[in-house]
Amino acid sequence: MYIIFLGAPGSGKGTQAAYVAQELNLVHIASGDLFRQAVEQGTELGMQVKSYMEKGVLVPDQVTIQVVLERISAPDCEPGVVFDGFPRNLKQAEALDKALVQKAKAIDKVVYIRVPEEELIKRLSGRWVCRNCQTPYHAIDSPPKVWGRCDKCGGELYQRPDDTVEVVKKRLEVYFAQTAPLIGYYNRPGKLLEMDGKGSVAEVGERIIAALQQASV
Ligand code: AMP
Repeated sequence: MYIIFLGAPGSGKGTQAAYVAQELNLVHIASGDLFRQAVEQGTELGMQVKSYMEKGVLVPDQVTIQVVLERISAPDCEPGVVFDGFPRNLKQAEALDKALVQKAKAIDKVVYIRVPEEELIKRLSGRWVCRNCQTPYHAIDSPPKVWGRCDKCGGELYQRPDDTVEVVKKRLEVYFAQTAPLIGYYNRPGKLLEMDGKGSVAEVGERIIAALQQASV
């Protein structure tokens, strides 16, 4: 089973993709997390992608596609994957389709989480993320129990360097220009599930699981 999560930065797609992957026993692959790990570890990939991430623009397709396709060829991905942050444009979507066809597989569902733009900026500017397990928090809407520490693993919380106002604006611009057109690309009855992203994390999560069950995943 292969599910894609689409949505603007700040739509909650990372949180929901992780939740759905856990509920359905699938591997959660977040391209942004793969890149951030590489930057933290100072690998060759990390050095290649760092400047793009800092500017809020997309890492070149050639690099991104190679990293993700290599990851999905690992044996743990056999039962299926929840993609989060990939594909981000048409070229990546076509490369993914082609790779899945070779495995006699296909994308089963695309969950698109819709959130108004002013809400996105508010969410991103208050976001804190666990350095260890990537669980996101919001300074006002969903603060951790102990400030600065992750409720789940006790890891240190930090603000992503690309969550500054200027970079957030750039990331949203890139999203609307390059990623939003994918909604049209995947828009087939029963495949694209358009979800209202308003409400608490638990509410949206339940809504998505119910929609996936109804669509008989
Ligand atoms: P994210 O954590 O998904 O918001 O991604 C953070 C940054 O990583 C993005 O702003 C891009 O610079 C880069 N990135 C993540 N996924 C992709 C992708 N599929 N294609 C190109 N760049 C990506």
